[in-house]
Amino acid sequence: MNQATLILVKPDGLKKSLTGNILTRLSETKLEIVASKMSRVSKQLAEEHYKHLKDKPFFKELIQYLQGELHDRRKVMALVYYGEDAITKCRQLAGATNPEEAESTSIRGSYGRITTAGVYENVIHVSSNPSEAEREIKLWFKPEEIIVDLYPAKDVIEEKRKTKGWI
Ligand code: UDP
Ligand code: MG
Repeated sequence: MNQATLILVKPDGLKKSLTGNILTRLSETKLEIVASKMSRVSKQLAEEHYKHLKDKPFFKELIQYLQGELHDRRKVMALVYYGEDAITKCRQLAGATNPEEAESTSIRGSYGRITTAGVYENVIHVSSNPSEAEREIKLWFKPEEIIVDLYPAKDVIEEKRKTKGWI
């Protein structure tokens, strides 16, 4: 079954110059990249992304981590991968959440670490099921930023929205 999944190269992945490496690993899946961008991560976006963990003792550090405050990289690379069993394939390559338990050849097993504060810095995010993927993709991307029609969208007329144009 065709699926979409959100991938984030987290700030530790960017700081460690792992972007190319991670994308090369993910290319083994033969999935299609249907959206990609560098994204600043506001506190609001980080908290919404990880809202299922808001009661965890490491939540504050986790938000700082995703915002790039621990790595002096206030951005992430966000991508949407699409194709047959996309979620399973990408999670398999990413490895377990805890980098010490992740298979040593997986992305997280190869490059992740656990901080002294107890946060798993595991270089990559992958959605874990189709409904989570839909929620997350809609959180990180607008319909027009994705080159296929993944989910139903409507026309929105935006008036008086301040935006940037080239001079
Ligand atoms: N995390 C952590 N400690 C934990 C569990 C999770 O630091 O005990 C962090 C880790 O960075 C993880 C993120 O919180 O990637 C989201 O957790 P989730 O359980 O959703 O794991 P994932 O889907 O990323 O494998
Ligand atoms: Mg998760």
